Amino acid sequence: MASSVGRRIARWSLVLATTACAADRAAAPVDADPAPSRDASTATTDARVRADAPTEAPRATADARAPDAAAGDARACATLALCDDFEGAAAGGPPDPSRWTVGAPDVTGTGTLAVDDTQHHSGARAVKVVGEGGYSNHIFFTNSAVIAALGPVVWARFYVRLSDALGDGHVTFLAMKDAESGADGGKHLRMGGQAKILMWNRESDDATLPALSPAGIALSEPLPTNQWLCLELMVDGGAGVLRTWVDGVALAGLQVDATPTPDVDEQWLRDAAWHPALTDFGLGWESYAGQAMTLWFDDVALDAARIGCF
Ligand code: CA
Repeated sequence: MASSVGRRIARWSLVLATTACAADRAAAPVDADPAPSRDASTATTDARVRADAPTEAPRATADARAPDAAAGDARACATLALCDDFEGAAAGGPPDPSRWTVGAPDVTGTGTLAVDDTQHHSGARAVKVVGEGGYSNHIFFTNSAVIAALGPVVWARFYVRLSDALGDGHVTFLAMKDAESGADGGKHLRMGGQAKILMWNRESDDATLPALSPAGIALSEPLPTNQWLCLELMVDGGAGVLRTWVDGVALAGLQVDATPTPDVDEQWLRDAAWHPALTDFGLGWESYAGQAMTLWFDDVALDAARIGCF
C-alpha cells in the first residue's frame, strides 16, 4: 500500500512537471467546445515531451493517466448516446445485437470476436477480437444507429488492450463510414497502426495522420501492450477537424485542424473538402499487410460532447 501511495505521489509529480499535459487533462471533462483552433503551443509541448524520451513515451502516458483514474471524471454511462460495458451479454456470445452488428463488410474470413470474461476494463467482461492476418480475415462489431444522429460533432471514448505491439504494416481497429458526398462518400475513416505507431488513415485517398515521415512518426507513439488504454476522438465534420487522445493526453501528430502542419495534417488537408458525415462506428481488426492481433475492447461510448476516461 505504501509503495502504491509512493508511486501515486511520483505520478503526480510527473504530471505537475508536464504542465501542458496536465492542463489538457484538467480541461478534459468540461471541454464542451471542441474548438478547431488547437493551441499550437500545446502541440509543441506534447511533441517535445515525447521527443525528449522516445523510449519512455508509453510509460509517461500511463503514469499521467493515474490521477484522473482516481478522480473518476468520466461522464456517467446512462447520460450518453451510446455506452456499452458489455456486462449484459453472455461470454462466448456476440455483443448486444440490439446495438452491434458483427461482421466483415467485405469478405468474411477467419477473424472472430465474442464477449469474453478473461479480460475486462470494467465489470467482468469485454469484447475479445481475434484478428487474423490478411485483409480477408477482418472482423468488426459496428453500431450504425447512433453516430449519424449526434450531429456534425462526434465524440467517442473506448478502451482497448492489445496483445502485441503495432507493426510496420497498416492495420485498422476502428472504422467509421463517411457518407459525405464526393470522393470520400462511402469510404471509411480508420484508426489503427502503421510504422509501429498509432495513426489515422483515410480510405478514400490513403492519406495518413500523421504523415509517415520520420518527423511525423515522432509525433505519435507506439501503444503499450497488455494494458488497457483509454482512446478518445473528436470529429467535427462541419469544421473538418479531428482530434485524438490516449489516456487523456492529446498526441500532437493525430490532430487535424484548420492550419496545415508539415508532417502532421498537411497531407490530410490536401482534400480541402474533407467534412466527414459519419454513419457508423465499428471496432475490430483489419490487417492489410498480414499482422494478426488479439485485442479487447471495453467501455465503448459515443456522444456529442467529450466523455472522458475513468
Ligand atoms: Ca466490461
